[in-house]
Amino acid sequence: MTSRYDSKRILVTGAAGFLGSHLCERLVAQGHDVLGIDNYFTGRRSNVAHLLGQTNFEMMRHDVTFPLFVEVDEIYNLACPASPVHYQYDPVQTTKTSVHGAINMLGLAKRTGAKILQASTSEIYGDPDQHPQTEEYWGNVNPIGPRSCYDEGKRCAETLFFDYHRQNNVRIKVMRIFNTYGPRMHPEDGRVVSNFIMQALTGQPITIYGDGNQTRSFCYVDDLIDGMMKLMQSPDEITGPINIGNPGEFTIRQLAEKIVEMVGNEAKLVFRDLPVNDPMQRRPDIGKARSILGWQPTVELEQGLVKTIRYFRTLVREKEPA
Ligand code: NAD
Ligand code: UDP
Repeated sequence: MTSRYDSKRILVTGAAGFLGSHLCERLVAQGHDVLGIDNYFTGRRSNVAHLLGQTNFEMMRHDVTFPLFVEVDEIYNLACPASPVHYQYDPVQTTKTSVHGAINMLGLAKRTGAKILQASTSEIYGDPDQHPQTEEYWGNVNPIGPRSCYDEGKRCAETLFFDYHRQNNVRIKVMRIFNTYGPRMHPEDGRVVSNFIMQALTGQPITIYGDGNQTRSFCYVDDLIDGMMKLMQSPDEITGPINIGNPGEFTIRQLAEKIVEMVGNEAKLVFRDLPVNDPMQRRPDIGKARSILGWQPTVELEQGLVKTIRYFRTLVREKEPA
């Protein structure tokens, strides 16, 4: 617990989402005064329901594309749908969320003097031709494709963060998050880990897009939140960008086979078209996170999947008729 004097007023945008809810839980447990905001596009009240009874937690319905006037010491800017299915549902709103949202939150940081962390993404590297991806790599991004609303929106947000830093001395932290999974992902989120687990648990075929040889690196949520909080607490001269993710790399087919085996049923694999501009490989170089933050992931894929499968199994059981 933090003493009354160390306790900060912390704003978390996207608080009812997957990562936001885990972050709020950790900040509340440390004794900070936490204000969560969300427009509930992909987030759910149930993700933060267990925090609502705490006197140091408060939720507000608010869309980050509109200005917000509150007094805070730190801002974690997580608001933005992260699943390709959801961010492509209303691409204009996705860009607005990243760009107008960043401007509004940076404006708030400038006025209040708050430190601000941006949840950026490995997607800013696009379909990378450098492997693994270091922070120096500028990326290979299609500016006009179906993923661009997210990729370019997040790239522009990074630009805004560094310009507010150079122009207005705003204290910034830019974190490039690689694929993260764990309890509280939306069961219909559309991302690969939740899709495969839900399909395996409900006896549906596992949908592999393309031939399944594309790779991703999967970070368990607890590790990711550790990295996020360490970055926020680092000295002001550490602005990032900094990669946070698990460097273990798996093909999507390997992931499917692992999940089927762990769920323990006979779900068959089916192959569907690969979505346009789907990156072929992705793995973070986390040298900077290791040396600057002293951070590295500790949860192996299988350990994290056990906890995630348990969470989704409970959800499925709750839906079953008694
Ligand atoms: P999520 O979809 O579960 O959470 C996003 C939250 O933001 C939701 O609660 C949603 O309702 C809210 N939101 C969306 N638009 C909003 C708006 N205009 N105003 C207010 N709230 C809004 O996704 P997540 O996995 O928790 O991702 C959180 C952040 O981390 C996102 O910014 C995402 O881009 C980034 N990120 C996540 C991953 C990952 O693997 N989970 C990877 C890279 C980056
Ligand atoms: N994918 C898949 N089947 C699914 C969902 C996703 O094969 O049901 C693939 C997707 O094409 C991509 C990878 O899994 O190659 C990761 O997809 P996700 O949407 O989780 O995140 P991305 O890293 O693409 O943003």
